[in-house]
Amino acid sequence: MKIICVGRNYTEHIAELKNDKPTHPVLFLKPDTSILLKKQPFFIPEFSEEVHHEVEVLVKINKIGKHIDRKFAHKYYDEIGLGIDFTARDLQSDLKSKGLPWEKAKAFDGAAVVGNFLPKSTFKDVDAISFRLEKNATTVQEGSTSMMLWKIDELIEYISKYFTLKIGDIIFTGTPAGVAKVHPDDVLVGYLENTEVFSIKVK
Ligand code: ZN
Repeated sequence: MKIICVGRNYTEHIAELKNDKPTHPVLFLKPDTSILLKKQPFFIPEFSEEVHHEVEVLVKINKIGKHIDRKFAHKYYDEIGLGIDFTARDLQSDLKSKGLPWEKAKAFDGAAVVGNFLPKSTFKDVDAISFRLEKNATTVQEGSTSMMLWKIDELIEYISKYFTLKIGDIIFTGTPAGVAKVHPDDVLVGYLENTEVFSIKVK
């Protein structure tokens, strides 16, 4: 399986990192080895002084597809989840400034938290799902899929022009504002609407 991530999909997060608003979705991949094993803590890697949490809504693909039209995209997923795109921001800034790919900052072991998935039928409207991240019992990031520049079905259309989507692939749909550095002993808890879907200890 593969993980396809979308960058710069929420206006306020684009502003906080002083990035330009993209004219097309920014895409990058994480390998399956980046998935943090269930019930394991997240260890801050030694190569970074500044790992940020980015909480993101996840979409799990349930059917193989290429060149999927947005009006049929809803047939390619029936589960929605929440996760964290851990990002070594210091490394990413350095790579960005040199025009180099981001993988070392985004695709390292443990950099993808994949929480529990809920059936799509749980939600009234996939384009209005609220979610939040609590750090040490304080809300640090919150958003709604209604705030996405590119909605889920548009993302599937766009992504599938480049990459064949296969069963089990996961799309990370981008983070809202509020990204910040994690520290040892932090506890990160994610909620999809009001359901807790992951709890991660940082070490
Ligand atoms: Zn992200």
